Amino acid sequence: MTNEHDGILNFNTIAQHGGQELDAVTHSRAVPIYQTTSYGFESTDHAASLFQMQGEGYIYSRNANPTNRVLEKRLAGLEGGVDAFAVSSGQSAITIALLTLAKVGDEIVTTNALYGGTYNLFSETFKRFGVTVRFVDGTNFSEITNAINANTKAIFTETIGNPGLQIADIEKLSQIADEHGIPLVVDSTFTTPYLQCPIAFGADIVIHSTTKFIGGHGTSIGGIIIDAGKFNWANGNFPEFTTPKGSLNNQSYVELTSESAFISKARFELGHDLGTALSPFNGWLFIQGLQSLPLRMKQHVENTKQIAAYLNEHELVTWVNYPSLKGDGQFELAETYLPHGAGAIFTFGIKGGLEAAKTFIQSVKLLSHVANVGDSKTLVIHPASTTHSRLSPEEQRITGVTPELIRISVGLEDAEDIKADINSALRKSLGASFVE
Ligand SMILES: *Cc1c(COP(=O)(O)O)cnc(C)c1O
Repeated sequence: MTNEHDGILNFNTIAQHGGQELDAVTHSRAVPIYQTTSYGFESTDHAASLFQMQGEGYIYSRNANPTNRVLEKRLAGLEGGVDAFAVSSGQSAITIALLTLAKVGDEIVTTNALYGGTYNLFSETFKRFGVTVRFVDGTNFSEITNAINANTKAIFTETIGNPGLQIADIEKLSQIADEHGIPLVVDSTFTTPYLQCPIAFGADIVIHSTTKFIGGHGTSIGGIIIDAGKFNWANGNFPEFTTPKGSLNNQSYVELTSESAFISKARFELGHDLGTALSPFNGWLFIQGLQSLPLRMKQHVENTKQIAAYLNEHELVTWVNYPSLKGDGQFELAETYLPHGAGAIFTFGIKGGLEAAKTFIQSVKLLSHVANVGDSKTLVIHPASTTHSRLSPEEQRITGVTPELIRISVGLEDAEDIKADINSALRKSLGASFVE
């Protein structure tokens, strides 16, 4: 998106205007909600051309919807990508993105500090589909390289691993991906484009669970896939992108849609066939979320820095893991990749271990005990007994979940009130089983 002077618009401006052209009939200033399943064709020829992906236009909202299209273009603009596909959840975004690249017999290499749902998707469901996912230590580059073979179709990572908060070295990972002619796919849910644009560090495809900070108010489930538009699909590793298809008027995705080939394939194959369409109403809520994203993220990070520093000094806390905290082992990596702050999610260890952790969770009043992150309200959870409880003790250890670990997603309340509630719950946790 460019302004009148032909300059590229800046972040805050794209967050307000990206992807919207005022509707020609009403000139509605807000993005309208196109709550429709289907769209009238101008003629039989027009219908036929749309079905063969010739030209812009809408057929059916399972494939594309004008409200969601604004969200897609706006997020592509914020991330520095060329196109995007909005879907019904973060999980469906990951599924569609990776299965657009890999089919039965193929492999994916992933860093192992993952959101619990993604871990299950990879280790159970993808396995049933015949796609092997190899889990590697994201900081061990030779382990990553060794896990790649002729069948590998992508490297996957989260910008900040969950719940261990490992910061991905995206430049290094993208270099390894490049050397092997495969794309780097990055789940940037914890960072949002406000804190980091993975494409600027070499990522090829970016995914968000828009459910979290982008929606920002804990109201809707959604996901999105954004394509940097720079991967060379004609390098021999991805024949499905370069083989002509009857359904595309005997052209290939690359011939027909060039730099948007990945998003086009994702939309017209798995998006169409699996049917994980985003409701236009939820798409509209995510657009509202993007408009306040810069302000909200700034405040999320400001509160998080204060609360992490407070707990770091607290006598009932054994450790705090927040990469933006001075003295943290990842502080330098955080300065490189997340100069505006390492997000609003951090973890700490409570004195007294498992029992104290449970009592703490039961005792908070202002903080909400829910399985979510990225709400405007502060949320807490004990991963070992909830989000990561489906994992074996060994898998829990690999993903960095320990019994005393508590995860906080810091909201937009006054930091003083959040601290007071945490302090009072910590005091109560003393009662349970506290042993010095
Ligand atoms: C929540 C989350 C997901 C899954 O998104 P849903 O919208 O819940 O399907 C994936 N990755 C990360 C990092 C998440 O936090």
